[in-house]
Amino acid sequence: MKDATKAVTAGRSPHENHGAVNPPVYHASTILSETYAEMRAKGKVDPADAVTYGVHGTPTTFAFEDAVAQLEGGFRTRLCPTGLAAISGPLLSYLSAGDHLLMVDNCYGPSRRFCDTMLSRLGVETTYYDPLIGSDISGLMRSNTKVVFTEAPGSLTFEMQDIPATAAAAHAGGAIVMMDNTWASPLYFKPFEHGVDVSIQAATKYINGHSDLVLGTVTTTEAAYPELRDGWLQLGLSAGADDVYLAMRGLRTIEVRLERHWKNGLKVADWLKTRPEVLEVLHPALPEDPGHAIWKRDFLGASSLFGFMLDPAYRSETAMSALLDDSKFFGMGASWGGFESLLVPRNPKPIRTASAWPRPGRPDGQLMRIHIGLEDPDDLIADLEAGFDRMRAAV
Ligand SMILES: *Cc1c(COP(=O)(O)O)cnc(C)c1O
Repeated sequence: MKDATKAVTAGRSPHENHGAVNPPVYHASTILSETYAEMRAKGKVDPADAVTYGVHGTPTTFAFEDAVAQLEGGFRTRLCPTGLAAISGPLLSYLSAGDHLLMVDNCYGPSRRFCDTMLSRLGVETTYYDPLIGSDISGLMRSNTKVVFTEAPGSLTFEMQDIPATAAAAHAGGAIVMMDNTWASPLYFKPFEHGVDVSIQAATKYINGHSDLVLGTVTTTEAAYPELRDGWLQLGLSAGADDVYLAMRGLRTIEVRLERHWKNGLKVADWLKTRPEVLEVLHPALPEDPGHAIWKRDFLGASSLFGFMLDPAYRSETAMSALLDDSKFFGMGASWGGFESLLVPRNPKPIRTASAWPRPGRPDGQLMRIHIGLEDPDDLIADLEAGFDRMRAAV
């Protein structure tokens, strides 16, 4: 079955719901038993697999988990209240005091904070590694390295990681591979075909796609599932019924949305390349991007979150305000993956510890992170052009 078909059909069972196309929303904490025998029987089944208590799952959450597992190509999916909880929960599930974690240097910022604070306090040591390290990561593996955490491309600098090479080295050293797969969504990178054991989605982003909820998913291989299951139950990770329902509604259209995001994003990226204010566009689907060969080899498409480096002449607060304040269509704010466009300045320099930013030999400018929504890209380009005009006039 192709992805577009899976996105539409997975997790649906109208015949069990009076023919209704969508599964009903179960709001439940208590799950009653009709007889004492039934209650005793429920005590014997795996609470992670059956409807025994609202925290662990209802037909609504099981349906969504099933749909995400099918699209990512994994064994099981579990839900978490946020994308960040879908990172911290698995890290706590697979790591113990005395263990060593290899974390990619361009990871999502709060992932880094979690390693440097809570994991560190609990006795887990983190070593950051250059996202471009590839198979040389074997040189950083230790006998106690339990997890190699990956993210490709990083959602700030868009450096592309060689996931299969990293995974091979990790497995040879006895570690499991976790990946934050949010950029590509479950459609454009198939983590389990490239050696990943645990794949994370901030469903807040493209899966939901409508900027109106926060939600995380963790999908694993069959071999990696038991530890995730235990940690997920112990931590009480769960997600609210209405948010799960809305995310599933978003998932039904993800294939058409992503195709348009990809196309619109590339159109704006190509235009940005022609601008004198722009030193470089950071987008792995552009042929000249340093990560392009890996993207082409491993990915099935590109989402519409990317970066560009503005000439440092425009780094001042005055220039930034001129560009951003009167934008018609680009919002300023955290998150991405919704139907609307966003533009924010970012500075990854101070947080990197294992590899320099900008990369050696690449231009140093003001990094802008841009998310291209589902507006007409010609309108977005006109809006950016007007912003660049205001910016030039302001400095
Ligand atoms: C947003 C994001 C997350 C976290 O998702 P939340 O739902 O906001 O907690 C994780 N990883 C990446 C790459 C993200 O962009």
